[in-house]
Amino acid sequence: GNDNGKSGRTDFMTHASELRRRAAACVPGGVHSNVRLIGPDDIIDSAKGAHLYSVDGTDYIDHLLGQGPAFLGHSPDFLTEPVCDAIRNGMIVGGQTEREVRAAELLCATLDWADMVRFGLSGTEMVQAALRLARAVTGRRRVIRFEGHYHGWLDNVLITDRDGAWEAASAGQLASHLDDFLVLPWNDADLLADVLARDGEQIAAIIMEPIMINSGVIEPGPAYLERVRRMCARYGIVLIFDEVISGFRLGTGGAVRRYGVTPDLALYGKAIAGGVPVSALAGRVDLMRRIGTGEVNHSGTFNAWAPGMAAVVATLEHLRDNPPYASIADYGAKLMAGLREIGESVGEPLRVEGLPAAFHVSFGEGDVTDYRSLRQLDLDRYADLADVLVRHGVWVAKRGIWFVSAAHGMAELDETLTRFKVALKDWLV
Ligand code: PLP
Repeated sequence: GNDNGKSGRTDFMTHASELRRRAAACVPGGVHSNVRLIGPDDIIDSAKGAHLYSVDGTDYIDHLLGQGPAFLGHSPDFLTEPVCDAIRNGMIVGGQTEREVRAAELLCATLDWADMVRFGLSGTEMVQAALRLARAVTGRRRVIRFEGHYHGWLDNVLITDRDGAWEAASAGQLASHLDDFLVLPWNDADLLADVLARDGEQIAAIIMEPIMINSGVIEPGPAYLERVRRMCARYGIVLIFDEVISGFRLGTGGAVRRYGVTPDLALYGKAIAGGVPVSALAGRVDLMRRIGTGEVNHSGTFNAWAPGMAAVVATLEHLRDNPPYASIADYGAKLMAGLREIGESVGEPLRVEGLPAAFHVSFGEGDVTDYRSLRQLDLDRYADLADVLVRHGVWVAKRGIWFVSAAHGMAELDETLTRFKVALKDWLV
């Protein structure tokens, strides 16, 4: 029962440290995703709006938001009610439901460029569906992807930078699955043009985060996406936008609408369902129908499960009827400016870059346009500060990314800046 957490607890132990000890005994590393091995680290009891509450009573202001999904705040009522209703009325039927039809129609209408969608559970699996479909329609094997972009944890996409060489990141990973992947610097259209002039006819797909949020929150340079789009058309390459983070965070139309460049396929996840696991593959009918004919397999027991579909409908209707984007832009811009000012006031100029809905904080000098220039910054120094900041009640990742939600209001802004100032001073002494 619930008391187990307290049995054996000594006066010196917090409830969290006792739970951590128990977790370490039965869960590798004490966490269920390796991303969480590097924190932030506490045992959370509940979450609501922009706040996380720990088992020992700490009230954190959350700027990680579960790595992005809680874009409209934790457990908003407009979401929890239809999701609970769906849970009570049959979660999986092994057939179709009206809800899933509505969710798909709403998603196509929201994206407007996409004719058809398939739902799944994780971003990782939808990347695989997109790559398989691209290979099927082109009859080609090879794929171009980019330095610093993350596309999930499976063998053919998980890579790490070992002194400039991109290699399999995990023990046990089949490195041969990376053979057909060419890793290029992003935001360099000339370099891509040179590669395609040689190999363009062999490339099935180009996959990218259209704004590189996983490394530094770096926007595409002027005309970069347009040039990539034109090159894909010229060589018959399927252009895949991985909008798992950018999707509903940058606006309902994601990066596609923000930059005005349309891919052939795109993937969505995270913010599409406010914390319920749902992902989507969207695309043009001439590609997507190959899944519907059965030629290209895409399956999954839990695809389009009822609570997920209820969450998609609730989220998309909410975004349509109460768009949060102006208030998020306002909040994020004030927070970014406030962090910069505090840095300056203590003689520690901070870089705060990106967009109000997702930005990156670091120390260092120089222009940052891609992964290599990002690595020139002092990212470890910020990681160290992030630890201190978590101890002062602001829940942030070491890698420098800050997410903003619709539930962050002016009270959270003042409190975050106050905590940040104290943390920065503490860290400096
Ligand atoms: N693609 C991008 C751009 C992501 O940021 C992520 C996760 O962070 C993924 C794919 C993988 O999604 P998931 O963790 O839901 O499998």
